[in-house]
Amino acid sequence: MASAESLRFCRVTNGVSNFYAVEQGGKVTLVDAGTPRDWTRLVSALETTGLGLDAVDCILLTHAHSDHTGFSERARTEAGVAIWLHAADEEMARGGPAQSHEGSFRPHLLSWEAYHTAIGLGINRGSRIVPIAESRRFDDGETVDVPGRPRIVHVPGHTDGSCAVLFERPGWLATGDALVTLDPLSGERGPRLMPRALTHNTAQALESLPQLSATHARTVLPGHGEIYRDGVENAVRFARAAASV
Ligand SMILES: [Zn+2]
Ligand SMILES: [Zn+2]
Repeated sequence: MASAESLRFCRVTNGVSNFYAVEQGGKVTLVDAGTPRDWTRLVSALETTGLGLDAVDCILLTHAHSDHTGFSERARTEAGVAIWLHAADEEMARGGPAQSHEGSFRPHLLSWEAYHTAIGLGINRGSRIVPIAESRRFDDGETVDVPGRPRIVHVPGHTDGSCAVLFERPGWLATGDALVTLDPLSGERGPRLMPRALTHNTAQALESLPQLSATHARTVLPGHGEIYRDGVENAVRFARAAASV
């Protein structure tokens, strides 16, 4: 676990998507919930820090795609964990129609990484959303009264309700799929937007990037790929450059 200002975090990954546990004073905020099978990864990650499921206070969802909502409903029903997300993704979280993707999968049909992602999500049962029956709403600029007291930054584009979660004092910014460091279809690495085939509105995603820069976070915790530690402004610069290629 990395630690700062009495907060600690760890990244948990299923090899495709990431989620994060942030601990303060023995209580845990999860940012995203991986895939349904990541439940066992969550329990193991908690055990290594001497915590149990009862330490988990809430799950803050960066958006309502199935590789991030994962075990939310199980955590809610079995462990009384509160689920939070932006209202604009609520319908998808309930199992309603998915927001459209603007690009085609055709360019990725010969990509090994695309198959790796599809198989990885299939094995972990992350290809389909497990509907979340009840959730709370957070909104742009809100400081959520949960462990770590993170601030929400609404960054629509990848989905309408995409949000980043900022732990201000240590300077950690969980960006979900608004800014990632691995393209799960092409396998390209480095700060970037998600591919069009998995994005609702790329132009809007680009317009949202300044909201991420404005946080001045040092450490970027992406929904896909490795942690980026050279500042969100640099990450945004690289993402813009990658998008213009
Ligand atoms: Zn997504
Ligand atoms: Zn994702």
